[in-house]
Amino acid sequence: MSVLDEAVQPVRDVARPQLDRNWVRAAVRTIEADAARSADTHLHRLPLPAGCGIDIYLKDESGHPTGSLKHRLARSLVLYGLCNGWIGPTTTLVEASSGSTAVSEAYFARLLGLPFVAVIPRSTSQEKIALIEAYGGSCRYVDEPGAVYAEASRTARELGGHYLDQFTYAEQVTDWRGNNNIAQSIFEQMRHERHPEPAWLVVGAGTGGTSATLGRYVRYRGALTQVAVVDPEGSAFFESWTTGESVTSVGSRIEGIGRPRLEPSFVGSVIDRMLQVPDAASLAAMHWLRELTGLAAGPSTGTSVFGCLLLAAEMARAGETGSIVTLLCDRGDRYEGTYYDEAWVRAQGLRPELWRGRIDELLHALSP
Ligand SMILES: *Cc1c(COP(=O)(O)O)cnc(C)c1O
Repeated sequence: MSVLDEAVQPVRDVARPQLDRNWVRAAVRTIEADAARSADTHLHRLPLPAGCGIDIYLKDESGHPTGSLKHRLARSLVLYGLCNGWIGPTTTLVEASSGSTAVSEAYFARLLGLPFVAVIPRSTSQEKIALIEAYGGSCRYVDEPGAVYAEASRTARELGGHYLDQFTYAEQVTDWRGNNNIAQSIFEQMRHERHPEPAWLVVGAGTGGTSATLGRYVRYRGALTQVAVVDPEGSAFFESWTTGESVTSVGSRIEGIGRPRLEPSFVGSVIDRMLQVPDAASLAAMHWLRELTGLAAGPSTGTSVFGCLLLAAEMARAGETGSIVTLLCDRGDRYEGTYYDEAWVRAQGLRPELWRGRIDELLHALSP
């Protein structure tokens, strides 16, 4: 034995068993193949008064196989879990959700043959619960919307599963530079429009993931487009963003947007402006959209459309022209028993008809 051999330490060497890599490889391929079978979603242009210098577009995310913008998020969350070595062939997937994310995740869990458990507020619409169950998922209920996080985390531990945790990971799992994310897709589809670079992108925040992707992408692309977030009554986002304090609140009545706490995935630094839209105004805009276009969308789309009309009227009054893009987040058929049901709306104390005049005023400001 030489002097040198005695001087060097042994190499420490530890192997860690990984979840079945062949299965993970096949799972990633299955998800990629599923995506390849789908086309991109439509970008509708609203038929606004002739001669109006402002164009409003809706990126129709209801066209995904699971009917909402959460299809993109669910795919990204599951891929993130697979590629981080967190999800294997026997992992139960668990999520805290107000409904739509769970619907989309149940679809991907079934695609991979994995069990799925959604922890949802008891107030979640029957239509969404039926969809989660139709994709083979099961539901656990909590009374307070704010209780979903701890219960989902506990359920995952109890079942030895993986908590997908959309509210933490939504802003990380999307490739914000491109890879056909929603922002890149919007800019590609706007290419031949008269105002290809939108003045505004308008979106609600649930996880905050979509607004984070949009805000990062416009900077990366070198666009001067601004991002406006519309927030419903009862949400913590608006107060938190405005005051810089992390406040909590009762939570929102507009499913999919507005949260009882400032979610970790909400990236406030890329947001130029926030508008707090009254719930009745959201419903009025949701109904107006259907009358104008035949598109029956969910209430969060109403919130966004109302925000677009406010910004469009402001631009028109300032003599500006340009384009505004928002999302059609999900379809109205998920809300037949709630937001599209007059008796239900009344029972909530909401009077959308009182906002119809305001919408007409905003449209009037757009007429040349
Ligand atoms: C989740 C959701 C949103 C908001 O999207 P985030 O990226 O989570 O902020 C808007 N509308 C509906 C219907 C949603 O489900």
